[in-house]
Amino acid sequence: MEKAVILKRGKEESLLRQHPWIFSGAIQRIIGKPEEGDIVTVYTNDNKFIARGHIQVGSIAVRVLTFIDEPINHEFWKQRISAAYEMRRSIGIACREDNDTFRLLHGEGDNLPGLVIDIYDDTAVMQAHSVGMHTCRNEIATALQEVLGDRIKNIYYKSETTLPYKADLNQEDGYIMGKSASNVATEYGLKFHIDWLRGQKTGFFIDQRENRALLEKYSKGRKLLNMFCYTGGFSIYALRGGAELVHSVDSSAKAIDLTNANAELNFPGDTRHAAYAEDAFDYLEKMGDNYDLIILDPPAFAKHRDSLRNALIGYRRLNAKAIEKIKPGGIIFTFSCSQAVNKENFRTAVFTAAAMAKRNVRILHQLTQPADHPVNIYHPEGEYLKGLVIYVE
Ligand code: SAH
Repeated sequence: MEKAVILKRGKEESLLRQHPWIFSGAIQRIIGKPEEGDIVTVYTNDNKFIARGHIQVGSIAVRVLTFIDEPINHEFWKQRISAAYEMRRSIGIACREDNDTFRLLHGEGDNLPGLVIDIYDDTAVMQAHSVGMHTCRNEIATALQEVLGDRIKNIYYKSETTLPYKADLNQEDGYIMGKSASNVATEYGLKFHIDWLRGQKTGFFIDQRENRALLEKYSKGRKLLNMFCYTGGFSIYALRGGAELVHSVDSSAKAIDLTNANAELNFPGDTRHAAYAEDAFDYLEKMGDNYDLIILDPPAFAKHRDSLRNALIGYRRLNAKAIEKIKPGGIIFTFSCSQAVNKENFRTAVFTAAAMAKRNVRILHQLTQPADHPVNIYHPEGEYLKGLVIYVE
């Protein structure tokens, strides 16, 4: 029997607008006893085909793979990955001499909900956020290999921390293809050690690439604090941009080691840079008022909608401290990557922080995620990275 989902009457509306999630409340009946991660066909209440996707446990019950009646097979995966690759090539990010680091596939943004693929030189790091994508991992890897050909030699599967933990899959990270001895990749001419074995996300925050490039332009002659530095991305761009001094801070000692290694890789022996393992709030509290360029790129303060209020208080406190202490004429790059916090919420938090610090503040840039992290227009939830560049008088 076909595994299928029948919707309640009228509940196909969001699907007609190509929104890729079906919530459990929209479902009338489930047929054929599908298990989590199985492919199901979705029918309207009067039995018309409307979509096909992965079924899962939770409030999002189906993540849609296609809105046309086509099989989910080798051709399907190949076509989707190839469309994603083609887009990155046509906009230039996948074919630059000075760059081999980019996101090849961005979940819903590339019409494959629950799947992320990042490219680091000749290694692809694949990450599943759903049991469905996990189940299909080998098929996806085969298609990926065919689409990218010689361009990649290794595929690392890194889903230990991203799969729903209730599914109890006990998945261990590991290579599906090849095995790489080197882990250095290049972003806009700068080299980075990418720790895909143990690092956060797929090993690097590719989503800040364009914002790092913008920061570089503002760094000349400035004294910079890179708060929440992780691999030191912003710091390395600032060094290239001619900053007078760069201090990188992160509470994780491992992040500080990575930052130091990356600084050494690009600018060996450069005494303009120093890195400190410290808590952000402690550091901001006791630091002087010597910095005139500050980056605040904290982890997601709100992982869920219910923690929104506390998250906003966190952003406000953090920004108020930086706005209060920055030198007159200083610039702050401030970010939020919490999906639950929208642009308006974030801007209000920074606005309130400015008012608390009683400084004159102007917005110079409004930033977001780069083009290789596209937002599916039918899935506005995919817009997660928000940033403001502000000038503090
Ligand atoms: N800006 C980075 C990404 C930042 S990720 C980049 O461009 O790659 C967020 C970082 O914040 C993590 O490395 C994490 O270790 C660090 N962090 C989390 N809580 C912190 C705290 N209270 N104080 C300082 N760093 C913290």
